[in-house]
Amino acid sequence: MIQQTALLDRQPQPMGSDMPLPVPAPEHARRIEELGRIILAYSEVTDKLQRSHEQLTQTVQSLREEISEKNRQLERKTRLAALGEMAASMAHEIRNPLGGINLYASLLAKDVSDRPASLEVVRKISGGVKRLEALVSQVLQFAREISLNVAPMDLSQTVAQSIDFAADAIVRRQIHLDVEGPPKLMVNADALLIGQVILNLLLNAAEAMETGGTLTVRFGAPVEPPARQFFISVSDTGPGISPQAMDRLFDPFFTTKATGTGLGLPIVQRIIEAHDGTIIAANQSGGGARFEIRV
Ligand code: ADP
Repeated sequence: MIQQTALLDRQPQPMGSDMPLPVPAPEHARRIEELGRIILAYSEVTDKLQRSHEQLTQTVQSLREEISEKNRQLERKTRLAALGEMAASMAHEIRNPLGGINLYASLLAKDVSDRPASLEVVRKISGGVKRLEALVSQVLQFAREISLNVAPMDLSQTVAQSIDFAADAIVRRQIHLDVEGPPKLMVNADALLIGQVILNLLLNAAEAMETGGTLTVRFGAPVEPPARQFFISVSDTGPGISPQAMDRLFDPFFTTKATGTGLGLPIVQRIIEAHDGTIIAANQSGGGARFEIRV
């Protein structure tokens, strides 16, 4: 463009004269102005190109990060699937003899009903069997594909029911309970599984406050993305989650409790992910842990 303008500047020479004809002043000014506009437009285009180049670089970078995060998740899922399969086949093997032990224990309980000391031993056996059965069911639930039974449900009612189920664990530790949420909140989800999730978080929170504290449950319609239907948060005033535990919280069989299974949170996470939701765990600035679900 600039070269063309320069060529245009060259005026036709009259025959027999070496002197160039002067370009009239207004014409000169008009060309300079035009040249200015061209240079301005050129630098605007260069700026735009620069900006879109920077944007592209950023997009490529974030896509790269997303891919490596997805790869990590895929690797974890493959590892967990293998672990789940192994655990499920073991759980099946354990379940049958457990049924037998339970049956014999109940027959024995009848036989020794008049001998309190022996009856106590039989009760201990039954108690152990019950705990093992609960563990086996958890392992199987964790290993199985989750099939959702999504239907309209009142979240407020589900929260209240879960609190009822956890009441003993809460009252026994003299924990103060604080619940905040609407009296009715209709959502589309699997009521049974969401109830299980809330109960699990409540029991974990109660177990984190052996000597009492405050358990806060908040739920409601989403106020900000990415929640689509509802949010639930469960917080406690316990010791919080240790840095080592934080990284492995959702790993199957990770537990810091003497009688824990380490399957509660992995199952919770699977249920929430089956609902296309998210769960995050964090420590609160004032102390204690906080679990937040968004579905
Ligand atoms: P379990 O309860 O059988 O240990 P979970 O998967 O439910 O299994 O929990 C795994 C671990 O996460 C717990 O052992 C505990 O260390 C930690 N955790 C869970 N909830 C809390 C909480 N509210 N406060 C502190 N730590 C917690």
